[in-house]
Amino acid sequence: MRAQGNAMDYVALPKIELHAHLTGSVSRRTLHEIWLRKKEAGETDLEDPLVVMPEGKHDYNLKTFFPLFSSYIYNLLTDEESIRHAVTSVLDEFLADGVVYLELRTTPRATGCLSAEAYVRVLLDAMGAWESHYGGDDAPLHARLILSVDRRHDLATAESILALAARLRSEGHQQQRVVGLDLCGDPTARPDGGVALFTPVLGAAARDPHGLGLTVHFAEAEASGSRAELDTLLGWRPGRLGHVIWVREDEEARREIARRGLCLELCLSCNVQAGMVRGGFEGHHFGYWRGVDGPRLSLGVSAGGANKPSWPLSPFPPFLSFPSLPLSKSTPQSVEP
Ligand SMILES: [Zn+2]
Repeated sequence: MRAQGNAMDYVALPKIELHAHLTGSVSRRTLHEIWLRKKEAGETDLEDPLVVMPEGKHDYNLKTFFPLFSSYIYNLLTDEESIRHAVTSVLDEFLADGVVYLELRTTPRATGCLSAEAYVRVLLDAMGAWESHYGGDDAPLHARLILSVDRRHDLATAESILALAARLRSEGHQQQRVVGLDLCGDPTARPDGGVALFTPVLGAAARDPHGLGLTVHFAEAEASGSRAELDTLLGWRPGRLGHVIWVREDEEARREIARRGLCLELCLSCNVQAGMVRGGFEGHHFGYWRGVDGPRLSLGVSAGGANKPSWPLSPFPPFLSFPSLPLSKSTPQSVEP
């Protein structure tokens, strides 16, 4: 490992990123490039993303940044060329950050030009082409895809996402890139256990015959930290939990998380920069969980390009809990497939 003086070179340190939303990982520079092409073709009336969201401006929070950012994502990433451009740039940027294994997550969505299924297939194809370009199994970064159910979805939409994941995985090698499902979205939607609506889908995802990985945004905000909700989420038997912020007072949930040895996807910089936790980095719950036997911890960026932190982030051995990884010779030995 290269070192800079006495400091570790954290870019060169091989890293695993398990909690990266595709829409949050597209850099403003990439959005600008896509906007420029569309502007010149007369295909957009949006303002330049780099003018509205200048690079280097980070004093946003979840309430101010993401609605703004999303308006560009959803209005620019509508056609195959733009989606390929975005995902390829995201992979390039994670590679430049020294990430060797990446799970991107995205909510399947119809774009106006593409159906939700076509959108996911474009992503998979672009990810496969990117990896092939870098040598296939020997590529320096392997990327996988998690399909997200949004808390605002209805049951039929969630069912269609599980069915899509199962269909893609049954089709062969390229589609095996889909490794799991996620529950994400506005934490204030479906409070007090209302997410139980999705039990027929997300409660089945990790079990036979699907056998998908399952990760859920867990107690991301106070509104989504009720006992009823946490019981429901744990009942789905997820392998990983995202954020795990509002369980400080919930002894029962903490004990159960530790007993099951779940993998916790903790996102320090995102949580601190967006004001999702109290007390800054010093007060982040990573400090609690690192001292607890049982859980395995994965530190991630959560929102790469949009709210990108600088390394270092992860001085601890990474852990993979989702299956089917043709890991390359270049993947570090500390990875446990
Ligand atoms: Zn997230």
